[in-house]
Amino acid sequence: MLNPFSIEGEWFKGNLHLHTTGSDGKVTPQEAITSYAAHGYDFLAITDHRQVTEIDGLDHKGMLMIPGIEMDGGQTDLNGSYHMVAMGAKGPMSYDSGWSAQELIDYGNENAEFVFIAHPYWLSLTLADMIDLEGYIGLEVYNTTCHYGVGRGDSGPHWDDLLARGKRLYGFGVDDAHFGYADAWVGYTMVKAEKCEYDDIIAAMKAGNFYASNGPTISNLQCDGNKMLVECSPCWEIRVVCPLPGRGTTTYRSGHKPPFTEVEFEIREGTDPIRIECIDEVGNKAWSNPMWLSE
Ligand SMILES: [Zn+2]
Ligand SMILES: [Zn+2]
Repeated sequence: MLNPFSIEGEWFKGNLHLHTTGSDGKVTPQEAITSYAAHGYDFLAITDHRQVTEIDGLDHKGMLMIPGIEMDGGQTDLNGSYHMVAMGAKGPMSYDSGWSAQELIDYGNENAEFVFIAHPYWLSLTLADMIDLEGYIGLEVYNTTCHYGVGRGDSGPHWDDLLARGKRLYGFGVDDAHFGYADAWVGYTMVKAEKCEYDDIIAAMKAGNFYASNGPTISNLQCDGNKMLVECSPCWEIRVVCPLPGRGTTTYRSGHKPPFTEVEFEIREGTDPIRIECIDEVGNKAWSNPMWLSE
């Protein structure tokens, strides 16, 4: 079973989607790095549109910097385009915006470490747009700029649609900050790894050893038989989300009053996979990755 809380290592905080003056962001790459370091981040990826922004020669302020790019192209059901984030670019990348979504993913996998789909809800992506694509490891379950800009930052149901049909996908939390308004230092990905070094962080993300958040902290998840223990920062609601019809449960059924910091749920047989959502008093949320209990 995938559970980063059951393995050795430390937790590191990062943002994997960010724009600078390398594309349509309002701050320089150095200013972006300095600001994220000042907010306590351990790693950061600059993912400008259509180019891998140079990060060598900049002061990384003690953070691990991961080169990346946001690629757009293909055609969706509603005549929009896809946005794909390629993480760990191995050099400059240039692609043709006439390429299909699958060609963008394939190109990303050849020229970077892995690819995830950016902001599906903001792009109005449907299940039909994503179900046949192969080779991406996940999607942005939370995107700050899409939340603050248009109120569509949480792509949980898009993720569940794919999980329900057997896709093994992870959910990233990102800012997609452009610094045009207060869209930085909110959505993040917490990665469990031995060290905050390039190979460790990339391998941990590829293995799904992380969770997403825009506020709450998940401190422990443990499954024992049909019991699921969740420990987190004080939350007003905790959900055990299962993408299958009618499955899942929440703290509303427990009879207890919030705040919750430790809850044990009983999981009905056949409720698989599950993922945990922890929601605090003001509606901020943390999203675990899916756990396939039968494995
Ligand atoms: Zn985008
Ligand atoms: Zn973006």
